[in-house]
Amino acid sequence: MSQDKLRTEIEARRDELVSLTQDLIRIPTLNPPGEYYRDICDYLDRRLSNAGFQTELIRAIGAPGDSDRYPRWNIVARRQGARDGQCVHFNSHIDVVEVGHGWTTDPFGGAVIDGKVYGRGACDMKGGFAASIIAAETFIAVYPDFAGAIEISGTADEESGGFGGVAYLAERGYFSPERVQHVIIPEPLNKDRICLGHRGVWWAEIETKGEIAHGSMPFLGDCAVRHMGAVINEMEETLFPALAARRTEMPVVPEGAKQSTLNINSIHGGEAEQGDGYTGLPSPCVPDRCRIVVDRRFLIEEDISEVEAEVRDTLERVRKGRDGFEYDMRELHRVLPTMTERDAPVVGAVAQAVQEVFGREADYVVSPGTYDQKHIDRIGRLKNCIAYGPGILDLAHKPDEYVGIDDMVQSAQVMALALKDLLEV
Ligand SMILES: [Zn+2]
Repeated sequence: MSQDKLRTEIEARRDELVSLTQDLIRIPTLNPPGEYYRDICDYLDRRLSNAGFQTELIRAIGAPGDSDRYPRWNIVARRQGARDGQCVHFNSHIDVVEVGHGWTTDPFGGAVIDGKVYGRGACDMKGGFAASIIAAETFIAVYPDFAGAIEISGTADEESGGFGGVAYLAERGYFSPERVQHVIIPEPLNKDRICLGHRGVWWAEIETKGEIAHGSMPFLGDCAVRHMGAVINEMEETLFPALAARRTEMPVVPEGAKQSTLNINSIHGGEAEQGDGYTGLPSPCVPDRCRIVVDRRFLIEEDISEVEAEVRDTLERVRKGRDGFEYDMRELHRVLPTMTERDAPVVGAVAQAVQEVFGREADYVVSPGTYDQKHIDRIGRLKNCIAYGPGILDLAHKPDEYVGIDDMVQSAQVMALALKDLLEV
């Protein structure tokens, strides 16, 4: 009976959920460069203060990207319950990626068409953010004497690593076991799936070296691009097959990401490319430098030092077989894999709520790429954390991104039921 009340109350707020999502989409928080963070935080401040939350606006001063022109603003809001208890925290990133080409709707218009709200960030992740706010507000209205506390944060820069957002807050104790016990990140993993964590990341820049000379006499120089060609060839023959053969027990989706992967993100060698307006010919030179950036995604079964050593071994094999081969390798970025245990309390509460709303068991998944859970785990030392929210992951960052209204309503119901379970009502 009481559970039905939470669900019917959320259903009754369907229009409010849609208009909240539209309002968030209409603030174009593009990152880079990090636009309108203060505006969206002010909007959220008004909304959550009205709902009885204590709010704090926190600028990540000195974080990468923070400047007076593009300040990294975050909001943390807390609503204390009537009795002592645990704290459930909903964390959403407020930034969206560039628009790109191919849109048939206004990316910042928030149009509603056939039961979907359209716009950049609709799916990733303003729809999920709105669902968590409606879930919390409804829960507080229905169960004002709950135990513990509810926190809602809107954080900057997730799309560019989260250093001006969750990482900054975690370093200052906002995500810590003393303050927060359960974390739900409403990223678009679909309304009936619980995301336990993500694979690891290791990025490196590899440079091959040569010697510049006139292009008509390449024998007087040494071509760094040919050396890089040998590197890529060695990767094709030994490294890629080895990675493809390595499978994980992590329930990673999609299926293709259940193995180790490596992408060559970019390649640059020789003379810089000229701008589109340039009509002259390039000049003839033997390239003396060639660089690639590799993006290696690794599994919880793999050790990061072995991940690095494997790439270095590949380069060493090339060096042994090739005269004059010299290289540098420089690590750019690393994130360890993380995976919350299936018997963690927040997993159990959301799984039970999914069962109640959809009449079937939740699927457990792991994300191929990282998100802010990495900082909550590593800096915040909070292991009881999942991603759960509406929206179809494949639509993230695409043109005509949308979030389904029914999906938002149902996932808000799941979040509210999880609150009820975790906050001793
Ligand atoms: Zn996201």
